[in-house]
Amino acid sequence: AVARDGGGFRVTLGSGHVVRARRILVASGLVDELPDLPGVRDRWGRDVLHCPYCHGWEVRDQAIGVLSTGPMAVHQALLFRGLSDDVTFFSHTGSLDEEQAEQLAATGIRVVSGAAAALEVRDDRLAGVRLVDGRLVAVAALAVQTRMVARAAFLAPLGLLPVAHPSGMGEYLPATDATGRTDVAGVWVAGNVTDMSAQVGVAAAAGAFAGAQINADIVAEDTRTAVEAARTPA
Ligand SMILES: Cc1cc2nc3c(=O)[nH]c(=O)nc-3n(C[C@H](O)[C@H](O)[C@H](O)COP(=O)(O)OP(=O)(O)OC[C@H]3O[C@@H](n4cnc5c(N)ncnc54)[C@H](O)[C@@H]3O)c2cc1C
Repeated sequence: AVARDGGGFRVTLGSGHVVRARRILVASGLVDELPDLPGVRDRWGRDVLHCPYCHGWEVRDQAIGVLSTGPMAVHQALLFRGLSDDVTFFSHTGSLDEEQAEQLAATGIRVVSGAAAALEVRDDRLAGVRLVDGRLVAVAALAVQTRMVARAAFLAPLGLLPVAHPSGMGEYLPATDATGRTDVAGVWVAGNVTDMSAQVGVAAAAGAFAGAQINADIVAEDTRTAVEAARTPA
């Protein structure tokens, strides 16, 4: 847990060890809550994917399915369409509005209606999506939308709580400026905990940038203290 400690913070580690700090940079990432469909958890990060910029190249030109499990499903299907001519959109328990249906049709994305029951795996490879009505639709890779939730429970004592992301994709800790500052004085955020779409490069750069801002903040505070001390007659 992280708690206030005078002008700074007290961080209690799992071991019970306590670390004191003048500033906190939160870089604890997020948890991808997976859709509740048999097979998804076992194949996650292998042939069940979410990010075209992470795994897209590996599944290019293959039969790619997109399982609609979140508000960005159609967007995701359109992104994967750039990687393969063979993209199937599983509407699953969701529905398409007129504009979305038109977009999928116009870009040559096949739509399969009906709820999915499970993933079918053969020889340790995804073979397809088994629908509740018994049909098996063959795909070699399946994109899903996860619910992305900031790992931030340990900040509750500071009153810093994750909030719903405007995209509907999960919960994040908002920054109040471009350096990663938060509503809580002395606490900065960087990476996936605040920017759920940040890849490694972006997350690392945000951490480096916030670190420099924190250092500048401490230097400014120390300078103020030094000036006050110098002005005070001995
Ligand atoms: C399946 C998958 C594939 C991906 N592939 C790519 C890719 O190819 N290229 C790419 O650029 N990005 C990829 N990404 C995205 C990449 O994982 C993120 O961009 C990156 O991990 C974000 O870094 P981060 O430091 O913000 O968070 P993380 O990497 O999640 O790091 C957070 C760290 O904080 C620790 N932590 C959390 N809570 C606590 C706590 N209470 N106490 C102590 N430690 C804590 C965690 O254990 C973790 O080590 C992929 C993501 C997934 C899910």
